[in-house]
Amino acid sequence: MPIQILPDEVASAIAAGEVVERPASVVKELIENALDAGARRIEILVKGGGRELVEVADDGIGIPAAELPLAVARFATSKLRTADDLYAISTLGFRGEALSSIGAVAKLELVSKVEGEPHGHRLVMEGGRISEPQPIGVPQGTVVRVRDLFFNVPARKEFLKSETTERRRISEQVTRFAIAYPEIHFRLTQKGRQTFQSSGNGDRREVVAAVFGVDTARQMINLPAAEGSKMKVEGFISPPSIHRGSRRGLTFFVNGRWVKDASLSTAVVQAYHGLLMVGRYPLAIILLNIPPGEVDVNVHPTKAEVRFRRPELVFSITQRVVRATLLGQTPPPVIDLGSSWSTSGLMGKQSVIGPDWALAHPTIDEQPGSTQSLQPALPGGALPLLRAVGQVGASYLVAEGPDGLYLIDQHAAHERVLFEALMAAHDRGAVESQALLEPITVEFTPSEASLLEENLAVLERLGFDVEPFGERSFRLRRLPVLLVRIAPDQALRVVVGDFEEDETPLSSELEARLAARVCKRASIKAGQVLSLAEQQQLLRDLEGCKSPRTCPHGRPTMIHLSVDALERQFGRRG
Ligand code: ADP
Ligand code: MG
Repeated sequence: MPIQILPDEVASAIAAGEVVERPASVVKELIENALDAGARRIEILVKGGGRELVEVADDGIGIPAAELPLAVARFATSKLRTADDLYAISTLGFRGEALSSIGAVAKLELVSKVEGEPHGHRLVMEGGRISEPQPIGVPQGTVVRVRDLFFNVPARKEFLKSETTERRRISEQVTRFAIAYPEIHFRLTQKGRQTFQSSGNGDRREVVAAVFGVDTARQMINLPAAEGSKMKVEGFISPPSIHRGSRRGLTFFVNGRWVKDASLSTAVVQAYHGLLMVGRYPLAIILLNIPPGEVDVNVHPTKAEVRFRRPELVFSITQRVVRATLLGQTPPPVIDLGSSWSTSGLMGKQSVIGPDWALAHPTIDEQPGSTQSLQPALPGGALPLLRAVGQVGASYLVAEGPDGLYLIDQHAAHERVLFEALMAAHDRGAVESQALLEPITVEFTPSEASLLEENLAVLERLGFDVEPFGERSFRLRRLPVLLVRIAPDQALRVVVGDFEEDETPLSSELEARLAARVCKRASIKAGQVLSLAEQQQLLRDLEGCKSPRTCPHGRPTMIHLSVDALERQFGRRG
């Protein structure tokens, strides 16, 4: 084929594909436009997970009738004049391609009225064709309706996930903006029900509560508005007791713009080093304010990536603020497997390992490459027969085996025992469950609710009987016997907390992970005094496990001090 310049519709469709990936991207672009228009109220209405309809209405400055056709033209914007403006952008939009892209892959309706005009105007764009604006009586502001997304791009349509997944992505997108802009009133309606709203009174913690629930919000730590000369860091981070199985709970805004940045995520995750178990991640919403000249926002059509002029500086400041805030709130971790096993070290450590600590922060600081004699007895093989010697700090069992001394974390060990029992029952389809005297109603965040709905079958196999009861509420009738000692709503929350973590986990993986969570809740806690007989029983049960040396979350259940190591430590051998 000879080289040819592509016809306009083809070029538009290609460009549109970069901007509009899925319904949530439409929501993002339209919210950005409303914010740029100075809106105080933004209302989002979604049907069919956004494929059927996304409508965003705002009370911003509106678009004059004469400019309506321009608004949907490609590279037409009111936010930028010269190339130099690119380096001092204070609006969220600037590329002038969102509306035109949406109009290229969906049926777009744009209704707007500016102050001073007697009435508003309405314009329709379908398959690239634009209608003449018609007068219409509407209040000041703009309403954009997007119907039948990807009606002319079947391939893209097939890439979309289930309706519930798309709904969840939309709620994530809306709630993120609501937290970043607490002074704006957001309202989200999906499937005919209002699923989220923020008051717009400027209180960010109140929005965090509306998104994550009151309990979580109460525990989230406010970053002290650390103001350097160049950069301001604000937001909320979770305490080490709240964590997730993926980085999805990390949200960043740079100068009011939502961005995805793997290095920023890493910076924050590293700030939790030693405070969270391996494989667990914090929740955080972090807002950075940086002089516009320090950040290039024109990196990608979605504008969700930025390039920092001095990335190391941005990352290290963010990390320092998070770390300092955390350490100001949390006692430092006390077990350090990397340090050497000296007598004085032992005494020092023993004095700080108490049940309180172990309850609040069941973490281990894993130093790579430690070669000391104190080692977690990590994977590999069955256990030898162990003899219970006693309990230390009501948290650890001391046991003797043929090859030395074992220190066993009673909580982690019991988790392992329960986990293998539950998984075995689950595989036989025979998990024991217990009915509640009275069914109870539990309310979830919008995104948790849609996840829960998607995973009802999984929950059933684990012994829960739950059914939807309104958009965000569920009715719980039965729960696994293992969990009867826990408040039933808590029991359900424990499990649902894990749904958030993966996009589409293999269901067997998900079930194993949920089972692990159930067992964590049901197991013997640190701080619980056990009789010698109970200790011995726990050891027997542990010996019967397939993977006795780690808990279901991958932490070691035991530390082994070999006879050899003991002899070396006491100077009996070189
Ligand atoms: P950009 O936001 O990059 O300028 P868009 O395609 O998103 O490009 O929008 C094109 C133009 O339409 C904007 O520059 C703005 O002038 C106008 N516009 C779009 N949405 C709104 C809105 N909700 N309120 C007021 N003006 C809007
Ligand atoms: Mg825009």
